[in-house]
Amino acid sequence: QVPLKPGRSLMDWIRLTKSGKDLTGLKGRLVEVTEDELSKHNKKEDCWICIRGFVYNVTPYMEYHPGGEDELMKAAGTDGTDLFDQVHRWVNYESMLKECLVGRMAVKPIGAPKELKAFAYINFLQQIPEDEIVVYLKTFVTLGVKYVLICPKKVYFFSLLYFLFYSYDWFQTDSSVTIVIYTKQKDMNAELVIVDCQDKRLRGEIIMDDHSYLVEVDLDHAVSEDVAVNISEKVGKVEIILNKKDNVHWKMLGQPWEGHDTFIKRTDRGLFYRKCKLVSKTEVTHDTKLFCLMLPKGTHLRVPTGQHVYLKQIIAGTEVVKPYTPVLPFLPLDFQEPPLHDGVHIYLMIKIYSHGLFTQALDHLQIGDCISVSNPEGNFKKSQVQTSEDLLLLAGGTGFTPMVKLLNFALTEVSCLRTVKLIFFNKTEDDILWRNQLEQLALKDERFEVQFILSQPSKDWVGKQGKISSSLLSEFVKRSRRNSKVLICICGPPPFTEQGVQYLKDLGYSQEEIHAFTA
Ligand code: FAD
Ligand code: NAP
Repeated sequence: QVPLKPGRSLMDWIRLTKSGKDLTGLKGRLVEVTEDELSKHNKKEDCWICIRGFVYNVTPYMEYHPGGEDELMKAAGTDGTDLFDQVHRWVNYESMLKECLVGRMAVKPIGAPKELKAFAYINFLQQIPEDEIVVYLKTFVTLGVKYVLICPKKVYFFSLLYFLFYSYDWFQTDSSVTIVIYTKQKDMNAELVIVDCQDKRLRGEIIMDDHSYLVEVDLDHAVSEDVAVNISEKVGKVEIILNKKDNVHWKMLGQPWEGHDTFIKRTDRGLFYRKCKLVSKTEVTHDTKLFCLMLPKGTHLRVPTGQHVYLKQIIAGTEVVKPYTPVLPFLPLDFQEPPLHDGVHIYLMIKIYSHGLFTQALDHLQIGDCISVSNPEGNFKKSQVQTSEDLLLLAGGTGFTPMVKLLNFALTEVSCLRTVKLIFFNKTEDDILWRNQLEQLALKDERFEVQFILSQPSKDWVGKQGKISSSLLSEFVKRSRRNSKVLICICGPPPFTEQGVQYLKDLGYSQEEIHAFTA
């Protein structure tokens, strides 16, 4: 993120797009763009970018880009799909850039839908006699290869996995329909299965690392709102049980959606949202609130530790999306209990900025209003903690949010942990989130310690003060014994996180010992 000039906020951009100004320079005409033509528009004052086959004139957007002009220029005159997906595929560019649309690419762009790879492979296998397929598959599995080239076709390991491991089936009784997905994935659990059934649309996504398998259909007949999901962890079988509204015999499960029965990279699927109801809003500090959202009845979704979701609202006629990291309703003090999630509510701790576009709109939501919530994302893996002896958490402001579930997980489920320390940076005492609860937790669990550091303390503050720095970190970030296995997690304003990571490296911590939470 870079500081933007005054008058160049997202709201200013939305206003400009609504002003009726010709932002493409084509007077509303849409044109077909060749690669040659695209490549000519590669300057700041004339910059076109292709995203998923659509070409945008981003010249007027340059000064509004939160990541800065130079970042945008990296894709100037080219297909920026991959770059876009790496950095912020969650941003709803179709809506944000619709007034900048120049037209479509004349030929298929490089960043075309990647599902095609999986389809190509299945088609390819279908052309081979069955007995030969078995030979091919056996060879691949024996070799344990990740990427295989069979002349003349390329075969992708994951589409191979899909073929070998994923399939679904369905059956019915008079009153119910059961969809069974055989994942053959041993450690299947509720965090890896996301089911949504609203009206007649059923969507079931099974996650396997950075890939997922999807069943998505418009059901043949109506079903009631309540949906049951059974997971057989050992054999990796997932059952989705629907209750028929009418006692009729179904001829088919339903009409497939585009991504139905595919196993592809998760980042190649669009973000899926469901509408959640705001059930409560409570004050945490003078500017931060705890929002409790309720998932719809037909949704089964658990946000894993360290992951975030995206919220989507329509603000001034434009879809705006921002990430938030779910927390728990409170910090559990009794770690004997199983982790706190009822599977129905999502708690978000959100700071309301007086000039914040999204948080102001959020704050104006009334109890009972709905907001769109996406599937979870994030690259934190619980296994990073599971082998650690010391867990050090560095948080700045609302960068505390990922630490909440992490603390709960660490203190409840990780037996090898000897010390857990939170070093919490805030401006003033009034800004400290859940201070009481943290202090209580430190009293209750001797493995846990909390250190508050203020950058703008009042004169009464007797605790530590300062900003994140090498000397502060060397004072507080320590291994409990020489060579103990440590994990340091850091989250806060982007410059805080970037500087923190650098200081930690300067202090001798390795990349593997540091996890930075970012978008
Ligand atoms: P914006 O309109 O983006 O503005 C934010 C603040 O910056 C305002 O004070 C505004 O006046 C100021 N500002 C805006 N533009 C400029 C400018 N050009 N120059 C200087 N100042 C400017 N936040 C939480 O509260 N809780 C969470 O759990 C949480 N989780 C997150 C998880 C991830 C992965 C990430 C990346 C961020 C998370 N955030 C979280 C931050 C959140 O996504 C939003 O960025 C935040 O809520 C601000 O949104 P906004 O639209 O209200 O503010
Ligand atoms: P804040 O109150 O403005 O700042 C918290 C502390 O960080 C203060 O002590 C502040 O000191 C310090 N700080 C701010 N900018 C700094 C900088 N450039 N260098 C060093 N220290 C700095 O924070 P906030 O408003 O709550 O914002 C929290 C941030 O965390 C947001 O940017 C949000 O996007 C991010 N966040 C990210 C994730 C994630 O990626 N998963 C999750 C949650 C939140 P001074 O301002 O006094 O210098």
